[in-house]
Amino acid sequence: MRTVKMRMAGGLAVAVVVMAGFGATGAVAAPPGTAGPRYTAGSDGAGDPYFPYSGNGGYDVQHYDLALTYTPPAMAPAPLQGSLTGVATIDLVATQDLDRFNLDLRGMDVTRVTVGGKPAAEVEAPAPGDEVDGAAYWQVQDDAARRWELTVQPRPKVKSGKSVRVVVEYRGTTVRPLDVEGALYGWVTTRDGAIVVSEPEGSMTWYPVSDHPTDKATYRFAITVPAGKVAVANGLPHKPAETSDGWTTWFWDAPDQQASYLTTASVGDFELRPTYTSTSGIPIVDAVDANLTANQLNTTNASLALQPAMIDFFESRFGPYPFNSYGAIVDDDSVGYALETQTRPVYSGSAGQGTVAHELAHQWFGNAVSPLRWQDIWLNEGWATYAAWLWTDDRGGTTAQQAYNSWYAPARTAAYWSFQIGDPGDLGLFATQVYNRGAATLHALRVEVGDEAFFEGARLWVERFNDGAATSADFQSVYEEVSGEDLDAFFQIWLWDQVKPPATWTL
Ligand SMILES: [Zn+2]
Repeated sequence: MRTVKMRMAGGLAVAVVVMAGFGATGAVAAPPGTAGPRYTAGSDGAGDPYFPYSGNGGYDVQHYDLALTYTPPAMAPAPLQGSLTGVATIDLVATQDLDRFNLDLRGMDVTRVTVGGKPAAEVEAPAPGDEVDGAAYWQVQDDAARRWELTVQPRPKVKSGKSVRVVVEYRGTTVRPLDVEGALYGWVTTRDGAIVVSEPEGSMTWYPVSDHPTDKATYRFAITVPAGKVAVANGLPHKPAETSDGWTTWFWDAPDQQASYLTTASVGDFELRPTYTSTSGIPIVDAVDANLTANQLNTTNASLALQPAMIDFFESRFGPYPFNSYGAIVDDDSVGYALETQTRPVYSGSAGQGTVAHELAHQWFGNAVSPLRWQDIWLNEGWATYAAWLWTDDRGGTTAQQAYNSWYAPARTAAYWSFQIGDPGDLGLFATQVYNRGAATLHALRVEVGDEAFFEGARLWVERFNDGAATSADFQSVYEEVSGEDLDAFFQIWLWDQVKPPATWTL
């Protein structure tokens, strides 16, 4: 996730992904002893204790086609508000006999819904247990509970295993949404457009979605903005931009499985630079804001020029780069962090070398293999931080061991140590310990199992859970497999004990 500028800063899994969400089976259970209704409502969450209403049950999204029209805010001092209209075409497969299902959508008004081409009527949200006749939809916007749901009642009902196309038309005023910690996220309106960074569950601020990493899908975008503005999404352009009547539509195609939080459609005064490639032929497309200062531009240009070498280096350690393209979106405005949006991370103000290495490593760790539940976010941030240590080490800078040793320096009494990275809590997702103790855990693991097993484990981890999601327990079993060691005690110390680890791994 977020690399905060300056401060730096896993068998079962596969089954769960198919079911779209974990724990929750999706169905609302019938009272014991009674034959429940055959068709039931999909759950309004993916069962993630950190974000109980993000994601939904009862279906598995295959593909999102997003046609967006966006008008950025007028010039200052007009309020930083834009207007967005969207048509989301969502192809999904029912994973239970569905009477109703939910999509997450926050702060946008739905104007039309069709399921299998059949229109649904907009109705008031019924009281729990109340029946609604016919094909219908309704919205609930509960800011206090962080529950923002669009419920769709298709008629005819949808049988388990059936594919359906759901089309949702919606519109709204875009603002600068805040996440559970009060940080900017989602569709963040800027003076010249929008920075779109949606971790952990901010995608629902700009399109109807099953907003949890366990329900990955492919994406296609058609983003229409005033002529002169550039819209940049994930993947690669699938046809040249088209301009008419003062508007330009930008077309992007992201054919790889993608978690919703990694989706972007950022808009601004970007310069879309000519494509260049890595040694292995990965096309790299950068979009750099024309309003960067000279210093920001120099820093950014120097870092982005290293992307091909970084891809080569990480491929030599972690296996093939997992997606069809790479690049960067560098905006002159700031949300206070950079984000590893899939294939094209978003940077605030400028892109520093360490941050570029960090966001690139996320493509393997967090994007190809995502956390099955947000509790396991150290698997994202620990790896991205450690990979940046490895890059700096390989370039003749601070070695990974030196970075580890300076991390290890604070006294045993320091408050820093009383933090559990195995379960950081919804307000601790982006705590520095998740990044740095996460990276130190991986360095210690490398010392523990040896270089060969360590990098073999990294490649096996990506191979086994690619396009999916996994847990810390899955991660431990991969390393027990490649090392032949029982690592219970090791991971107890590093993920759960809230004390300074012993000096065992400090060489
Ligand atoms: Zn990160």
